[in-house]
Amino acid sequence: MARVAFIGLGRMGHGMAGRYLDAGFSPTVWNRSKAKADDLIARGARWANSPRDAAIDADAVVTMVADDEASREVWLGKGGAAGAMKAGALAIECSTVSHAHALAMARELRSRGLIYIDCPVTGLPEAAAAGKLTLLVGADPADLEKARPYLAPIATNVRHFGAVGSGTVFKLINNLMGAVQIASLAEGLAIAEQSGLDMKLVAEALSTGAVASPQVIRHSKRMASRDFSGASFTAALRHKDAAYAVALAETLLPDVPVSRAAVEAYAKAKAHAPDGCEGEMIEIVSRPKPAK
Ligand code: NAP
Repeated sequence: MARVAFIGLGRMGHGMAGRYLDAGFSPTVWNRSKAKADDLIARGARWANSPRDAAIDADAVVTMVADDEASREVWLGKGGAAGAMKAGALAIECSTVSHAHALAMARELRSRGLIYIDCPVTGLPEAAAAGKLTLLVGADPADLEKARPYLAPIATNVRHFGAVGSGTVFKLINNLMGAVQIASLAEGLAIAEQSGLDMKLVAEALSTGAVASPQVIRHSKRMASRDFSGASFTAALRHKDAAYAVALAETLLPDVPVSRAAVEAYAKAKAHAPDGCEGEMIEIVSRPKPAK
């Protein structure tokens, strides 16, 4: 059996690593905090003391960590996976990173004889645990074919956007547009509340009307009722994705004012509740206007 190493066992990565066990692989796993690996180890995963140890002899190393900083650490830091990977092994980056970071990693890992593909995902943690993610891939076609056996356990859809970096371009556009929609929903709901509308009716009407995107459907009732139980995407991650997307946009377009406004809105939401869910930004915008 080919050998896979899985790095990063957060809300998404934990379920994804479990899928390799389900598919009959014997993955080697590493996470910054070991406790998240305990049940995977009980199921047969092998614990490694560092990403580097996890990567020894691996045919593919898959990472699912928070951001650029975490990605750099697990690939290139002291004890990073790239230090031990064999020539020709696959480095599969599933984390949502910036476009500049994906390109820099591809250059660096290629110079070490490794194959880097960017492979960010869409889907919630439940989809990750069920192997039902959609993968947004940037890779040379031949590299993608080599990677497919390692992508099959975690995904029902593989969307190949082009060369390395292109999967990340699409992912950032997707999450930026989500940020704009959710920020706009929070403001719309806050206006409705302050106007004294029936919020149950408002949430129902938004969720079934012309603006009813999946994001609006997912968040409108939650925001209106301030019930964020079961939400899995944090304000901090949404802010990171929108900021990475705007950084990319600024290399391509003269101005993206709506996108920049969404980044600012999420900066405030993150400051308000760093571990809070992205929809909690309603708490910030719904404060009543102070009396003069
Ligand atoms: P999470 O639960 O916060 O997990 C983050 C992971 O990154 C954890 O394993 C964490 O380790 C690790 N990490 C953070 N900083 C690190 C560092 N400096 N060095 C090493 N490891 C570090 O986040 P998540 O929801 O699983 O998201 C993971 C990635 O998937 C993100 O890029 C996110 O944007 C993307 N994503 C998330 C969703 C979602 O619905 N949640 C959907 C699609 C894509 P510890 O466990 O030790 O903290």
